[in-house]
Amino acid sequence: MRKRTLFFLSIVLVFFWGTLEYVAAAPPLQIAVYVDQDLLKSFSGTLSMKIELAEIFLLASKHFEEEIGRPLAFSVLGVVEVPHEFMKSGKLNGEFGLRWLYRRRLEMKEDRLFLIVSMPIFYNEEKNSGLVGPPEQVAIVHYSGSRFETQITLLHELGHLCGIPEAHAADSDRDSIMHNSSSLGKTYGKFIPVIKEWCGERISH
Ligand SMILES: [Zn+2]
Repeated sequence: MRKRTLFFLSIVLVFFWGTLEYVAAAPPLQIAVYVDQDLLKSFSGTLSMKIELAEIFLLASKHFEEEIGRPLAFSVLGVVEVPHEFMKSGKLNGEFGLRWLYRRRLEMKEDRLFLIVSMPIFYNEEKNSGLVGPPEQVAIVHYSGSRFETQITLLHELGHLCGIPEAHAADSDRDSIMHNSSSLGKTYGKFIPVIKEWCGERISH
């Protein structure tokens, strides 16, 4: 074969190799989202709320793809009124919240379901910025007013939904997204292999 033919063949091969790799990349992890209508009060209008949420989702997806190798695809199902049963003397009752979400979870095809709320969540008398509990495929995230903090909370709760138990509390690594006070977390760190196993290329548990 002549050198030039070989050269063109290798270009064709490289091109198709790239295409094959692209096809083989993991499909995004599908995350359905409900938004508490009271969240609107923190913004000048629906549009600015939507932009802020889109930025949070983009940041979270970029981070997840960088460390876990799979992007996140968020679909907002609706802005909802947090039910009365959910509230206990002006506080968001996490236990009811999770149950409320679980009922909705049964009807949907997405891999995970999140609710973004405007106030901290109380569970066992403790105030939380995020909450996940049995059943394991739903989570509540408090929008704190900070884009960065909120996406870290989101990634922290997603970490729980991808195989990392709450027992990480003793984890001394403050840079870890899975640290108990994770708002400054930078990385999934040592938890990456487990998260990859649960939420990497395979669809969901
Ligand atoms: Zn946690």
